[in-house]
Amino acid sequence: MGWTFQSLIDAKMAVTAFCNVAACGHTKTLNLENLRQRFGPDAPGMEWDLRPRLKCEVCGSRDVGLIYAPDSRKMSGMGQNLYSKAKDER
Ligand SMILES: [Zn+2]
Repeated sequence: MGWTFQSLIDAKMAVTAFCNVAACGHTKTLNLENLRQRFGPDAPGMEWDLRPRLKCEVCGSRDVGLIYAPDSRKMSGMGQNLYSKAKDER
C-alpha cells in the first residue's frame, strides 16, 4: 500500500524535496496540506507519483529526489497549536 496525501498527513510525515544538482543542493519541505487541497486527499503521494511534478525552484532542474521522514515538529507538543490553527483556516 502506498501513501496518499491524507495518509502522509495522518501519519505526521514530512516530505522533503532535494535538488540532485550538486552545485545547487536546494531542499524544500513540501506543504502536504496544500497538495491535498490541490490534488485531493486520496491522490497518491509516493515518490514516483510526485517526482514528475517537481522542479527545483532555484536552478530549474527536474532531477529532484524526495525524503520521507516523521515530522519532528508535529510529533512534539502533540500538535495542539497546529490543530486549532487548521480549524481556524476552514
Ligand atoms: Zn536546484
